[in-house]
Amino acid sequence: MANTNYKRKTPKSNKDENFEVDLATENIESLSTVNEIEEDDNLDNSLRPKKLTDYVGQIEIRENLEIFLGAAKKRGEPVEHILLYGPPGLGKTTLAHIIANELGTNLRITSGPAIQRAGDLVSLLTNLSEGDVLFIDEIHRLNRNLEEVLYSAMEDYAVDLILGKGPSAKSMRINLPHFTFVGATTKFGALSSPLRDRFAVVHRLEFYSEAELSQIIDRSARILNIEIDDGGMTEIATRSRKTPRIANRILKRVRDFAEFKHSGKVDKQIAEDAISKLNIDTIGLDRTDRDYLLMIIEKFGGGPVGLETISAALSEDRDTIEDVIEPYLLQLGFINRTNRGRIITSLAYKHLVIKDSRNQTTLF
Ligand code: ADP
Repeated sequence: MANTNYKRKTPKSNKDENFEVDLATENIESLSTVNEIEEDDNLDNSLRPKKLTDYVGQIEIRENLEIFLGAAKKRGEPVEHILLYGPPGLGKTTLAHIIANELGTNLRITSGPAIQRAGDLVSLLTNLSEGDVLFIDEIHRLNRNLEEVLYSAMEDYAVDLILGKGPSAKSMRINLPHFTFVGATTKFGALSSPLRDRFAVVHRLEFYSEAELSQIIDRSARILNIEIDDGGMTEIATRSRKTPRIANRILKRVRDFAEFKHSGKVDKQIAEDAISKLNIDTIGLDRTDRDYLLMIIEKFGGGPVGLETISAALSEDRDTIEDVIEPYLLQLGFINRTNRGRIITSLAYKHLVIKDSRNQTTLF
């Protein structure tokens, strides 16, 4: 994907899906470090707010978590399981870090595709300590056969193992410490309902306003020692797809540009020049977004066109289209998802300065 800020994670094969576990030989590879599921550099980590009060925006979630965490701390009990969903880069992982930090407990991080076998999951769970926060990113990509292990772990704080095979197989229950499970997903609809139902709290993360993004950029600039004025911050904020991760990435690129070409201080003009060089337009669309819109307009008369066709025409996988490209275009009102496929709206035509010769009444 051209000019993308995301790295896709390819699922590994799920060969061994049965529940017979030899704990002695199970590896615990899935107890991965942050790096395995994080992006291509350490930027995210260095800029992550550690406290709820430093977490910008998402007011409803913040207020709810404040009460929820405060009450659990007061009672001395672990917090109930939390599900966070929304497009990438909006702060789900950051919230998991904050929850663990606010509770003063450890955070264990992994992702759905990294857990290949029941044994991986059991090892992960049995290695937790009382009160730990277990964060599983991309939970919708966890093998469905493994969900059963999670059900009893989440509900009863126990896992049932079948040791051995055939008639001599024995069932054994292992009790787990009381932990808090934080699941994150970009695809809420792809979760099975039994799994969804086991979360006490479910939150959808929203895109950020320009003011909120400016606040995040301001904070990041301080941490990274970047001199930037209000004009520079606003310029980055308006072109960051309403997404903190992208705002931070752009900030860093703009800093490089400012240091290389100018004195190092970032103002509106320098930010504008640097961002244009990244092929990002005035409202944050990059080349991939434009390719998406133009392809549907030029080849399919603006739609409707199905996801499979778009995926083939752009040589881009469905997940990236659905999870990375489309949410922002939907948010801008540039596309509609209908039963018959995606339709480009007249707003997008206007932005791309292309005459929309369709009969608007037949669009919807
Ligand atoms: P996700 O897990 O949803 O993909 P992350 O939690 O990894 O997103 O967020 C990406 C980066 O964006 C983080 O490193 C953090 O610096 C920044 N960020 C996200 N949300 C916020 C926020 N509400 N306030 C400040 N920074 C944020």
